[in-house]
Amino acid sequence: MAPNGYVIDLTGGCIVVTGGNRGIGLEISKAVARAGASVAIIYKASQDAEDVAAQIEERYGVKAQAYKCDVGDASLVTKTVSKIETELGPISGLVANAGITIQKPALELNTQDFQQIYNVNVLGVFNVAKSVAKVWIDRQFKGGSIVVTSSMSSRIYNRKGPHDPITQVFYNSSKAAVTNLCKGLAAEWAKHSIRVNAIAPGYVDTDIVEVDPKVRQYINDTVPVGRFAKPEEITGQTILLLSEYASYMTGGEYLIDG
Ligand code: NDP
Repeated sequence: MAPNGYVIDLTGGCIVVTGGNRGIGLEISKAVARAGASVAIIYKASQDAEDVAAQIEERYGVKAQAYKCDVGDASLVTKTVSKIETELGPISGLVANAGITIQKPALELNTQDFQQIYNVNVLGVFNVAKSVAKVWIDRQFKGGSIVVTSSMSSRIYNRKGPHDPITQVFYNSSKAAVTNLCKGLAAEWAKHSIRVNAIAPGYVDTDIVEVDPKVRQYINDTVPVGRFAKPEEITGQTILLLSEYASYMTGGEYLIDG
């Protein structure tokens, strides 16, 4: 895993990617495999996650396996991480990427919506990060890296423009919470040589984004690059943060917002 020239080489590693079966996570799983590490994909309900893992294994010649696990369920997460450590491990990195949104005006949101979102976007990240960190500390592994998919919405609220903004106040606030969580974990776990960073993508073309065409046009007009990101454009920073080139980067949040 030592830096190899300026090519990022994760050979010999094992990276856990939550939500690694589709959207941004799928591209991260592929990028990890391309960099030479085996991939443990955690998913919740998709029927084709095992096929996705098999395709990655075949295409990139590394081990890849899918694990069905709701990241909001702490005891299931502990069991799953321990299974991954035994079957594919030793685990060397984590991308806590699984996330959900609920788009509704604030006046229609309720307690259940809050719990649903925070259970995945904040507690889910914590559950997986804690389980993986414990495994590392128990086997005295130094140099583990955790990358969390936060969002640019941790910092700014959607600009109003000529149309109503995308209404997702619980989602946006959960991303602010998870970025802060990363900073706290980074501070606490530095003594174990564990780094924790967040990436903060702007608008990315995936299933999570339901945008009215007029709002999409407005967003494109206000993003300097003039378009949404493709999921694969979120992988570079993630791979960098997983690697030892980022050995002095912890507690940060990195915008990838065009
Ligand atoms: P997708 O909806 O395409 O994918 C979501 C992934 O998360 C799926 O793999 C899904 O698994 C998994 N997942 C959801 N809930 C759980 C759960 N409880 N336990 C385990 N896995 C779960 O979303 P994106 O790829 O767009 O989003 C990935 C991350 O990026 C999210 O955290 C999102 O907030 C963030 N993000 C996205 C942006 C965008 O514009 N797309 C912008 C900024 C941040 P399954 O397939 O089984 O349902």
